[in-house]
Amino acid sequence: MSAPKKKSAPVKSLRTVDKLARLGLSTDMSLVLHLPMRYEDETRILNLNEAGLMHGQNVQVEGVVTACDVQYRPRRQLIVTLSADGCKLMLRFLNFYGSQATQMAVGKRLRVRGEMRHGFFGNEMVHPVVKAVEEGAPLPQALTPVYPAGEGLSQTLLRKAIAAAMTRIDWSDTLPDSILSKLGYLPFEQAVRLLHNPPTDVDETSLSERTHPAWTRMKFDELLAQQLSMKRAQAARRQQGAPALANQGALSQALSKALPFALTGAQQRVLTEIRSDLCATFPMQRLLQGDVGSGKTIVAAIAAAQAIDSGFQAALMAPTEILAEQHFRKIAALMEPLGIEVAWLTGSLKKREKEAARARIESGAAHLVIGTHALIQQEVEFDRLGLVIVDEQHRFGVAQRLTLRNKGIDKVPHQLMMSATPIPRTLAMTYYADLEVSVIDELPPGRTPIMTRLIDQERRDEVIARVHAAALEGRQVYWVCPLIEESEVLQLQTATDTHALLTAALPDLRIGLVHGRLKTKEKQQVMDAFASGELQLLVATTVIEVGVDVPNASLMVIEHAERFGLSQLHQLRGRVGRGAAASVCLLLYQGPLGMIAKQRLTIMREIIDGFEIARRDLEIRGPGEFLGARQSGQAMLRFANLETDQWIVEQARDLAQQLLQHQQDIADAHLGRWLGSREDFLRV
Ligand code: ADP
Ligand code: MG
Repeated sequence: MSAPKKKSAPVKSLRTVDKLARLGLSTDMSLVLHLPMRYEDETRILNLNEAGLMHGQNVQVEGVVTACDVQYRPRRQLIVTLSADGCKLMLRFLNFYGSQATQMAVGKRLRVRGEMRHGFFGNEMVHPVVKAVEEGAPLPQALTPVYPAGEGLSQTLLRKAIAAAMTRIDWSDTLPDSILSKLGYLPFEQAVRLLHNPPTDVDETSLSERTHPAWTRMKFDELLAQQLSMKRAQAARRQQGAPALANQGALSQALSKALPFALTGAQQRVLTEIRSDLCATFPMQRLLQGDVGSGKTIVAAIAAAQAIDSGFQAALMAPTEILAEQHFRKIAALMEPLGIEVAWLTGSLKKREKEAARARIESGAAHLVIGTHALIQQEVEFDRLGLVIVDEQHRFGVAQRLTLRNKGIDKVPHQLMMSATPIPRTLAMTYYADLEVSVIDELPPGRTPIMTRLIDQERRDEVIARVHAAALEGRQVYWVCPLIEESEVLQLQTATDTHALLTAALPDLRIGLVHGRLKTKEKQQVMDAFASGELQLLVATTVIEVGVDVPNASLMVIEHAERFGLSQLHQLRGRVGRGAAASVCLLLYQGPLGMIAKQRLTIMREIIDGFEIARRDLEIRGPGEFLGARQSGQAMLRFANLETDQWIVEQARDLAQQLLQHQQDIADAHLGRWLGSREDFLRV
């Protein structure tokens, strides 16, 4: 009976389809554009005599199995001896199936590929790729492509699917010859075919380094699609109406009067920029950059006042509860006396409180809403949302920011994003096509620069003595516990231990502890006690990294500073140096330091300016990592590399401009091919 067979066949292929879909490969074109991540050279078989000397390198050899045994000590493993050219090679498999032992039975001829190592018994390979072959079996003529694959997807399956798709797609070029020849790019078909099946005489280096003209064409196409989609999104956004928030009325004026300080020149300048954007009838899209402590919050509050004066609501979202809470208190203290209703919304509120807050937001009774991610939950509806402010915007994903922006009713609210992590100009230009940038490049007066010292962990006792002395002088101190990336629990443990240790060592000090696992109330109490000066020393995890503002704190100790990234160290350090007292930051490190850690710590010791630190950070890390995976342009790109391909970016940008002005049909065709279901080019 053949019926069951017929039934099972589609199920199997459907699974494959699902697996491909998980990689975003649901159309023929997407398969064809799934290009190899690297190539393997299976075109040559090395003599085992030669190969045996190439320790640490990937090689392919061929030989006959002369022994095949399962060993049980020191652990279960399959050991196969391969003989060729009068030499022996051990193949070791720690996990194996019975069928593998059969495949590699004595007498079989095997072609194996793997890293040559010098093991206990001489030359060996651990878990090589093995193929049983006949003597004289032909070698591949070309490099073998290796594709990015997902779980359960073999290279063979991918290769087949891609080859099949290649017979079905429309190969016509999206770009006319005139443009290609002017820019000097290969035709699409030629480039794609070459990358999937490189010819024997291809320049391997340029292929693997992705500098081959075929790669350049792919990079260009990808970047062009990205530029086109961003420019379209920008145009679409301009078409959407935003409420004009033109009124700088009673509240704005009263707020300016109520400020306990005069705005710096830089603050005034960025405010002028923001205020004029708010008057427009298309949505503002502005990034406010300013180093840690430069005073971004007050600028945001004044912008909010203008929205409220114009009859709209404003929302301020911050990435952590501590920060949101601090904003709420400071801003409410300024605004509530002026008759403004400020609502507070965070995930940890009780159900009843949340409902009450939501009701005030929905009815419009609350003019300003401050909170965490809780603001973007579905149940939260605004009456007349006119301005969205996102603090520490790099902590949020694109989708989260968009969700908040989509909470406007029929118009799109204006958006102000804030960050102390500057985006280098070239990146901003490329990846945020229509983002306007305002920079606060001046710190409020009266700050004394922070002095940073590097201290070996072994001198911790001296540091504790120094903390003691500082506290007795009336200064407040942060003690930041090491980052333990693998485990939040461990991080917590360390913080608790450190707190216990410092409490024992400094019995006459009032010492608090704050970490992410505390209940909101408890966190609040600790932060309050520190802010009011009741606590002299605050042991903390990185929860205090962003935003926390206690001007009297003037000494910070960071343990295991070598584990932190530059921008994180800079953010942390920015918690001190906020008042008139000279501040000190002690970076405790555990030697010996690796090269990059040493570089980072030296930069921290020598440089105080956040923009300069960011520039150095970029040098060390490269732009991909720099912006954080979630929003980095690099993360969205499969082929182009921001560091090395800037010139291609520029060409793509120019052509995108030109196509959108004069040749919309080409732009459509190109986007159709490259965008497919990949909406992730669209970022805001
Ligand atoms: P950041 O830019 O890091 O968010 P904040 O907005 O938290 O900085 O401001 C840091 C501190 O500087 C706050 O205590 C704030 O009240 C104060 N501040 C802001 N602007 C001024 C100013 N023009 N003069 C004096 N102090 C200011
Ligand atoms: Mg801030």
